[in-house]
Amino acid sequence: MSKLILAIDQGTTSTRAIAFETAPEGGLRPVAVSQIELAQHFPHPGWVEHDAGEIWNATLQTCREVIRKAGGVGRFAAVGITNQRETSVMWDAATGEPLHRAIVWQDRRTADATGKLAAAGEEPGVQAATGLILDPYFSASKYAWLLDAVPGARARSEAGEVKLGTIECWLIWKLTGGASHVTDATNASRTSLMELTTREWRADLCDLFGVPMAALPEIRGCAALLGMCEASALGAALPIHGAAGDQQAALVGHGALKPGEAKITYGTGAFLVANVGATPVASSSRLLGTLGYAAAGQVAYALEGSIFSAGSAIQWLRDGLGVLEESRRSEAMAQGLKDNGGVYLVPGFTGLGAPWWAPDVRGAVVGLTRDSGPAHFVRAALESLAYQTRDLLDALEKDGAPPLEVLKVDGGVTANAWAMQFVADVCGVTVERPAFQEMTALGAAKLAALGVGLIGDLEDHPVEAPARWQPRMGADERDRLLKGWRAAVKAAIVAVP
Ligand code: ADP
Repeated sequence: MSKLILAIDQGTTSTRAIAFETAPEGGLRPVAVSQIELAQHFPHPGWVEHDAGEIWNATLQTCREVIRKAGGVGRFAAVGITNQRETSVMWDAATGEPLHRAIVWQDRRTADATGKLAAAGEEPGVQAATGLILDPYFSASKYAWLLDAVPGARARSEAGEVKLGTIECWLIWKLTGGASHVTDATNASRTSLMELTTREWRADLCDLFGVPMAALPEIRGCAALLGMCEASALGAALPIHGAAGDQQAALVGHGALKPGEAKITYGTGAFLVANVGATPVASSSRLLGTLGYAAAGQVAYALEGSIFSAGSAIQWLRDGLGVLEESRRSEAMAQGLKDNGGVYLVPGFTGLGAPWWAPDVRGAVVGLTRDSGPAHFVRAALESLAYQTRDLLDALEKDGAPPLEVLKVDGGVTANAWAMQFVADVCGVTVERPAFQEMTALGAAKLAALGVGLIGDLEDHPVEAPARWQPRMGADERDRLLKGWRAAVKAAIVAVP
């Protein structure tokens, strides 16, 4: 009987476990899944917290259920973990109890702290070492906040009594009964404390952010042995042999392993990760430099850009404006118009992400006439996904990233074929959607399967052919639309009070 991989996908809104088996034709396929929703805490405006204890309990529960569904722990060879990135946990090394709620990646409470560092001229140095800009998004300022917020934590962390880590690190600690305080290099690359080229913590960055190195985990490769589970956790001493942050895991899941291959996940927001090859590319257009993966002697760096509002614009049309009964209806409504009627929607509900990084911009709709109706709003929202993607691809090109031939997509919005065709048209690239959509969990499973020797490489071996959209819009039409979009973004930026 084939051996299975247990993939843990600890996301922002839920915790999932998926069992994968090796398929006869190569690659991995899912055999069982379990999922539990995660409570969100908003103690102040701009603050977002998770209960790390709840995350651990949900992980145990979903893993145990999947193991049972898949025929028992004896069938499993290894565990792989993928996780919401940057979310920061602090716990007591002796008791294994969290000392504060986890600070979630979306949390803006450290905006002043990172703003001060930027004002002091620290950004170029941080960016050169880590690939990241100065922003509360990343873990370092969250760690410092936690150490200052809990009395005695800072002193105890210097003595090794208090531990810090991102979510995979927390789960590895718990699964190994405190034997492993370990992170993988992709998660470490999101802290602002790891140097991209050496993949080691930098003492000067730890000093700059006020995070003692003694409290940080050891950095290992994404398919390395990260720890052995205590038998009491899952029923056997399974090795944890893979870990990567969610967007990087999706890159691996898609098999975007060569320079010039990229994936974008269109969910609530959208995340583009483009493989740039074995050496980091410094961005001059405010994309993030990050590690794609480091596994089995292969290292791939990536450039990343985030779109804050993607599917959430469709949610707003449905739940806020009430012009859609269901997200699915957006496809027929957009298709029903012969063109966009000159209407553009800039979905700056929570500011604009890369390449603008304009947190104060708000949403805008421009070009309304007496003919404009609900369908124009819907079409403009779907079109905005493509325009924002194009902005990211232009930024990649400006940064000298290898030219892109295929854009691999996943996430809820990719169910919309009209929107995917529009992305292909506006971006001038082939868009490819795999039949199996759980790219994040698949990536974690592939890394663990590689680590434990169940598969020989990270190549993708899809059972079913992907859906494909080829660009077919003329250059004149594309240029006209992009001009309209850029004017709308300018209007939204000018409108900031
Ligand atoms: P997340 O992982 O961020 O929760 P999902 O990948 O599950 O997101 O995608 C959910 C998003 O996809 C929602 O914002 C929803 O509005 C959008 N969505 C779902 N179906 C469609 C569709 N057919 N057309 C456009 N958007 C859609």
